[in-house]
Amino acid sequence: MSLDTIPKDLRQLRACLSCSLIKNVDQFENDGCENCDEFLHMKNDRDKVYVCTSNNFDGMIAVMSPEDSWVAKWQRISRFSKGIYAISVAGKLPAIVIRDMKSRGITYKSRDNSSR
Ligand SMILES: [Zn+2]
Repeated sequence: MSLDTIPKDLRQLRACLSCSLIKNVDQFENDGCENCDEFLHMKNDRDKVYVCTSNNFDGMIAVMSPEDSWVAKWQRISRFSKGIYAISVAGKLPAIVIRDMKSRGITYKSRDNSSR
């Protein structure tokens, strides 16, 4: 089983502001986000990683088989890659990124539970 999405290093962990996947900064920079890089373009762009991820998140859940995990359903991440996800992520994607997502027909849903 490939576990490339599991954080290899517990320092500098950040959570994706779009899907709440948790990895460290280097992983986001090297591989982008497994779920969102199509529109977030974090790969090889460290500045983008800092803009599109947050180090302020709460809770960590491991999702090994997103298809049948109740946690994944609850977090609405059943279509996502397996990995570690945050339960809530503080912060917001930049407006320009949200506009780009919209133009691709993707609805941005904030993962910031505290602002609900
Ligand atoms: Zn993501």
